[in-house]
Amino acid sequence: MTDTYLNLVNSGVTKKLAQQLGLPQPAPLRRYRAGTPLVDGPVLVLGRGKDADALAAVLAGPAGGAPGSTVLDGWDLDVHRHASPDTRYAAVVVVLTDVEHPDQLAGPVLATAGVLRGLARGGRVVTVSREATPDDAPALAAARQGVDGLLRSLAKELRGGATGNGVVLREGVPVTAPSTLGAVRFFLSARSAFVDGQLLTVDSDAGALPASWDRPLEGRVAVVTGAARGIGASIAATLARDGATVVAVDVPAAGEQLAAVANRVHGTALQLDVTAQDAGARILAHALQRHGRLDVVVHNAGITRDKLLANMTPDKWDSVLAVNIASQLRINEALLTSGDFADEPRIVSLASTSGIAGNRGQTNYAASKGGVIGMVRATAPLLVPFGGTANAVAPGFIETEMTARIPALTRQVARRLNSLQQGGQPVDVAEAVAFLASPAAGGIVGRTLRVCGQNMVGQ
Ligand code: NAD
Repeated sequence: MTDTYLNLVNSGVTKKLAQQLGLPQPAPLRRYRAGTPLVDGPVLVLGRGKDADALAAVLAGPAGGAPGSTVLDGWDLDVHRHASPDTRYAAVVVVLTDVEHPDQLAGPVLATAGVLRGLARGGRVVTVSREATPDDAPALAAARQGVDGLLRSLAKELRGGATGNGVVLREGVPVTAPSTLGAVRFFLSARSAFVDGQLLTVDSDAGALPASWDRPLEGRVAVVTGAARGIGASIAATLARDGATVVAVDVPAAGEQLAAVANRVHGTALQLDVTAQDAGARILAHALQRHGRLDVVVHNAGITRDKLLANMTPDKWDSVLAVNIASQLRINEALLTSGDFADEPRIVSLASTSGIAGNRGQTNYAASKGGVIGMVRATAPLLVPFGGTANAVAPGFIETEMTARIPALTRQVARRLNSLQQGGQPVDVAEAVAFLASPAAGGIVGRTLRVCGQNMVGQ
C-alpha cells in the first residue's frame, strides 16, 4: 500500500508547492537494513550521575567488550558528554534517573534544547528515567512523572522523521539491565521508525543480551498467526531475518498466500482457523513435530466488522470477539498448561490504538483490543516463573489491506493525524514485535507498546 501524498511532498515542484501552502510535510522514515550503523553520527549522552556514566560507557565501549575486563559489550558509538551547538547529533540520550525534584529537570532538558535544531534527519531523542509511584515523596513523583509529559510534548515538536521515546525503569532496575539496554537500543535504531512519543517500562533485570544484535532470535521457534498477508506476513519475515524458525498460521482459504510466505521465510505453514477449539494443541503439535520446540507465539490474526453500536448485529460482535481475543485466551491456556512452552517463552499480541482511545464504529473491535491489553497484563505473571513474558503491540494507522478498505478521504486524514504525519508500514509493527520477542526484552512484562507515530488519539 503506498502513500502517494508522502511521495509527492518529497519530490521536486510538488515539494515546494506543499511548503508554500503550509501542508503537512511527512518525511521518509529511516528503516532498518542489515549492515547499516545503529545510528548515523555522534550521540550526545546527557546527565551527570553514575547511571549516565554507565550507559555512556556501553554506548561508547568497544564491540566485543574490553579485552580481559568485565565491561559490557560496547556499541562502538561516537559518544559526546557535553552538548556542542555546532555538532549535528544523530541522537540524544537524556539520563534522568537521578532527578529528585522538578527543579533538577532544567539542566539536562535545556541542554537538549540547545542541540535540537541540529538534530539529524531521522534523529532520536531517548529519555531514561524512573517510574513515579504513590510511595514516592511528592517532589520525587512530580519530577519522575514530569518526564512523561516532557517526552510526549518534545516528540510532537521533532521534525524530519526524528522521534522521541522514553525508557522508564521500575525501582531497582539497573540502567545496564538487559531490557534497559535492549529498549534504548531499539529506540535509537531504525527498527523503531514509527514508534514515537512512547514510554516503555522495564519491570525487572530479567532477560539476556543477545550474542548478536542482528540475529537475536537465533535458535528460537516462533508461531505467527494471520501470517498470509499484511502485518502478519511482515512479522514472519522479520522474525526469520532475526534468526527464528517461523511457523506461519492462517485460515485454509488463504492457503496459497500462506505457503508463499512460509517458503519465503524458510519456515513451515499451518492451515488453521485460530478460533478452533483445539488451535493451541495443533499449534504446539506442529511446532514440536516439525521443529522440536516452541518459544514465541505472535497472536496477530485479527478482523474488523465495523458498525455503529446502534446497528450492531450479534454476528458482527461475536465474530470479532472470537477471532481477536477469545482465540488468544484459549491458545494461551493450552500452551501454558502443556509444560512444553516453558523455556523463556514469549507471547506477543496485536492490540490496537482503537482499544486504548476508542474509535467510532468499532465497539466490537475496541472491546477485543482493549481485552488484549488486559489479557497480556494478567498473563505475564503466569510466565515470569519460566523467564517468559507476555506483551502487546498496539498499531495505529498501518498501510495494509485492512486500512485500504477505509474510504479515501477518511484514510487520507487518518494517516496524517500523528506526529510523523504518515501511516506506518507493516514492518514497523513487525520490528516492535521482534524486539518484544527477543531475549533482551525479558524484563518487559505485561506492557503494551504503541506503534502509531504518536497518534493524536489516546495517550
Ligand atoms: P489483514 O486483514 O491484512 O490480515 C489479517 C490476517 O489474519 C489475514 O491473513 C487473515 O486471513 C488472518 N485471519 C483472520 N481470521 C483468522 C482466523 N480465524 N484464523 C487464522 N487467521 C485468520 O490485517 P492486518 O492489517 O495485517 O492486521 C494484523 C493485525 O494487526 C490484526 O490483529 C489487526 O487488528 C491489527 N491492527 C492492524 C492495524 C492496521 O492499521 N492495519 C491497526 C491496528 C491493529
